Amino acid sequence: MTYSLVWFKRDLRWQDHAALAQASQKGPVRCIYVIEPNFWLQPDCALQHFEFVRESLQALDTHFRKLGGCIEIHTGEVTDVLERIWRTEPFAGVYSHEETGNGFTYRRDLQVAAWCKSKDLVWKEFAQFGVVRRLKDRSAWQGEWERHMASPRQTIESLTFWHQGCPQPFSMTAPAHLQHDPRLRQRGGRPQALKTLHNFLNARSIGYRGGISSPLSAPNACSRLSAYLAYGCISMREVVQETRAHLAQLPAQASRHRAGLTAFVSRLYWHCHFIQKLESEPAIEIRNMHRGYDDLREHAFNPMYFEALKEARTGWPMVDASVTMLKETGWLNFRMRAMLVSVAAYPLWLHWRPVGEWLATQFLDYEPGIHWSQMQMQSGTTGINLTRVYNPIKQAQDHDPKGIFVRRWLPAMRTIADPWLFEPWKMRLDLMHANAAPTPLNITEPVVDLALATREAKEKVHARRKNDDVRIANKAVIDKHASRRGSPRPKKKLSGESIASEQLGFDF
Ligand SMILES: Cc1cc2nc3c(=O)[nH]c(=O)nc-3n(C[C@H](O)[C@H](O)[C@H](O)COP(=O)(O)OP(=O)(O)OC[C@H]3O[C@@H](n4cnc5c(N)ncnc54)[C@H](O)[C@@H]3O)c2cc1C
Repeated sequence: MTYSLVWFKRDLRWQDHAALAQASQKGPVRCIYVIEPNFWLQPDCALQHFEFVRESLQALDTHFRKLGGCIEIHTGEVTDVLERIWRTEPFAGVYSHEETGNGFTYRRDLQVAAWCKSKDLVWKEFAQFGVVRRLKDRSAWQGEWERHMASPRQTIESLTFWHQGCPQPFSMTAPAHLQHDPRLRQRGGRPQALKTLHNFLNARSIGYRGGISSPLSAPNACSRLSAYLAYGCISMREVVQETRAHLAQLPAQASRHRAGLTAFVSRLYWHCHFIQKLESEPAIEIRNMHRGYDDLREHAFNPMYFEALKEARTGWPMVDASVTMLKETGWLNFRMRAMLVSVAAYPLWLHWRPVGEWLATQFLDYEPGIHWSQMQMQSGTTGINLTRVYNPIKQAQDHDPKGIFVRRWLPAMRTIADPWLFEPWKMRLDLMHANAAPTPLNITEPVVDLALATREAKEKVHARRKNDDVRIANKAVIDKHASRRGSPRPKKKLSGESIASEQLGFDF
């Protein structure tokens, strides 16, 4: 009699867990998580990620102890840990989910495969998203996504653990070098994931349509499931199926709610669509998706601009408030993320890789496949997307017209009167010209002239776009990465309303 080893990675749940379900059908299981010292040294890792994992594993351990087992926490490089366990108590096979991670996890998985082969052991990996390993043809992709999401969930009623009972209490300590754990970030664990999903479906999703763009309404109007999906506290299939079931029972007159939930399902589709890009081409984590955009920004990096961005002192209130909120909460809505990257990539002319490394540590939901594809898309280096340039002054006028957001996160803005809300640096000069009494101001001047710097940046990117060689090479990028048809999109756009922030307690 032997057992199967279930290796938990970014799949920290106990339901709809294909690896656990399949292993348990073979007999006893032993569940492990490995703290990999070299993984946590990677530049895209932060303390908040570790703590979120710890909280999620704690919840998993609590659940397993009720069933008579536990999750074992091991420290070391994965092949060393497997070797150690194998030597003392050999196992029949390794079960885990496929992971589309960073370069480190890609190389580590190759080593694990080689180790299993050397022991003549089976390593069974299961898809957990609608992402297809060794995808041959993008045209078949949407069908694969639908098939995965419609397939039955893997329910796990009971488990037989190889070791009955665990003498050690659950314990996990973060490597000392790790930094950054935002005060107001979401907490990890499957119970929190389920609560967030149900509360979104039953109440907050009414505000999804129209509520997701403004950083004021977005914290409640958005689902807030991203970190739970990134660490697998809930499966994508559960979210899609629960949402579709909820949609099916909405009354016909609930058109706003219906439109919101349909738009939400489109984003769940994008989640996998973007991860597929990194799965199909791991190099896009470090080099341009379209090589025709090489050497555009690489040699022009201005560290002072980068520091200004990271320290929330670019001078554009909407940008600085967004950076401050992100640092305090670990989350930002899509539009503000896109605006930050656009400001970094165009007026500040910063290459996406260092900016992306920094943002990866700031986003609690850091998911390499979405992150690097989005970083490149918003920086104009994919060649296949329209150039998107977000003007931070216009974003403030559209999404924070009364200055509630910027005054909440930037105390200095509280001393600025409404007429200068969008361009506060003009206040001192205007008052001087009007011979008014000088007001003490703690306001930063913009690091560059926005209009001029943006125009110059766009010209440089557009010059590349027009280049004949670059245009010819677009086809290869489209063949490999472009969506073949739109995602399950809502037909009608509705104007928005948002829900009071108290409903979920995302009060920022
Ligand atoms: C530069 C940049 C980097 C980003 N990095 C990440 C990242 O590391 N991890 C991450 O989950 N999202 C990332 N996003 C996408 C998006 O901003 C977040 O998914 C979203 O803000 C998370 O909040 P939510 O779960 O409430 O979103 P909801 O609007 O409720 O969306 C539900 C889910 O759909 C997926 N999703 C939503 N928008 C997108 C999108 N544009 N592309 C792909 N999937 C999407 C996410 O899984 C999300 O949890 C990034 C966007 C930009 C512009």
